[in-house]
Amino acid sequence: MSLSDRIEGLRARIRRACEAADRDPAGVELLPVSKKQPLALIREAAGLGFSRFGENYVQEGADKAAAAPDLAFVLIGPLQRNKAKPALQHFAEIQSLDRPELADRLRRLAEELDVVRPVWIQVDLWDETTKLGGCAGADLPALIEALGEDPRLPLRGLMAIPPPEDEGAFAQLAALRDRLQQDLGRPLRLSMGMSADLEAAVKAGSDQIRIGTAFFGERSY
Ligand SMILES: *Cc1c(COP(=O)(O)O)cnc(C)c1O
Repeated sequence: MSLSDRIEGLRARIRRACEAADRDPAGVELLPVSKKQPLALIREAAGLGFSRFGENYVQEGADKAAAAPDLAFVLIGPLQRNKAKPALQHFAEIQSLDRPELADRLRRLAEELDVVRPVWIQVDLWDETTKLGGCAGADLPALIEALGEDPRLPLRGLMAIPPPEDEGAFAQLAALRDRLQQDLGRPLRLSMGMSADLEAAVKAGSDQIRIGTAFFGERSY
């Protein structure tokens, strides 16, 4: 199947999901996830109107960003402290902020590098932290405190990868977002939903779905 056919099928899926949830498709951002996909395919997607891509690995994303300075890459994979500098240098946005020490380090480096990088807090309400990263609900206040409304790292929203079997997870995340939004007094977006579960995520109110395989096809490891 060609890339444009696959994207067309995906768009139809998103439209149907929005119809079923009585939502405007314009309110659901599609972030293509290009990890383990070659730059040529990303270029093809760029030709079809996409300019921002999710990447999981700092080195891979940094290489692609250096080769395609006209495109923007978003870090959606776990970030180690010692990779914080290249992450800020090469990624337009960081969605996997999940602990206060990382926030501290990013703030120091953002000032040193003189850059502004929107961040998202990755949350883990299901105690899967060791596997996929994410901040536990109880640790959120400390992380938000560490972020401290730093203008160099504006908080855009919450990102999560809920366990595939948990039916209530998306609604749980939406409730957390609503609560936090009210506490902080500013809008927060919700990035949830992948190839296999975008319908349920859209239904629960996702603002951004991150789609790899249903967009690009199988990854070439
Ligand atoms: C790989 C990945 C995706 C995309 O997954 P698909 O199932 O291929 O759509 C989305 N978000 C994160 C954090 C990922 O690591």
